[in-house]
Amino acid sequence: MFTNEKAVVVFSGGQDSTTCLFWAKQHFTEVEVVTFDYGQRHKLEIECATSIAADLGVKQTILDMSLLNQLAPNALTRSDQEISHEEGKLPSTFVEGRNLLFLSFAAVLAKQIGARHLITGVCETDFSGYPDCRDVFIKSMNVTLNLSMDYHFVIHTPLMWLNKAETWSMADELGAFDYVQERTLTCYNGIIGDGCGECPACKLRKAGLDQYSAERNLSSSQAEVQS
Ligand code: ZN
Repeated sequence: MFTNEKAVVVFSGGQDSTTCLFWAKQHFTEVEVVTFDYGQRHKLEIECATSIAADLGVKQTILDMSLLNQLAPNALTRSDQEISHEEGKLPSTFVEGRNLLFLSFAAVLAKQIGARHLITGVCETDFSGYPDCRDVFIKSMNVTLNLSMDYHFVIHTPLMWLNKAETWSMADELGAFDYVQERTLTCYNGIIGDGCGECPACKLRKAGLDQYSAERNLSSSQAEVQS
């Protein structure tokens, strides 16, 4: 617990950033979130993030990042581009420079409100080839932010080394399992909760959930045997 410390969570309303928000609320006295509007396929993503922030009683700042779409049209922002992931290539959902820009803007906001802790749900384990989700990038970014603003930011990445099943486990430990399952939006087709079940994001989410549920059932039945 970082007593009397303020944190800003980079928040999209998805499974990962919502789990990070619960984590942040447990570790910091004061938490705010920043959500980036870059013309996502589904406006619902922003609405979903807003309702979760309201539910959890944290202040949300929505920043307009539509310029990202102007620079790098891609499948996350353009509904006319198909979501695909060819072997050996970056997925079509990759937005060039996204975390670099998001963390920079989050840091500017954080410094303004007197927060030095930044939290992001990036993860290297389920590395889809996104270079800006790697731990080495985050560490380099942390140094750059500190130098650029002469400030002691600390970037926290609670999910960095977890697989999807372990992320569900973390949500469970935070008492947020049901909430994360029912209220977050991961689906590329804009369906909250378990989603469409067909898109790559839904499949990844479900695979992690199934793995975690199987492990949880196994450990609870082992506990019964022991007792
Ligand atoms: Zn889906």
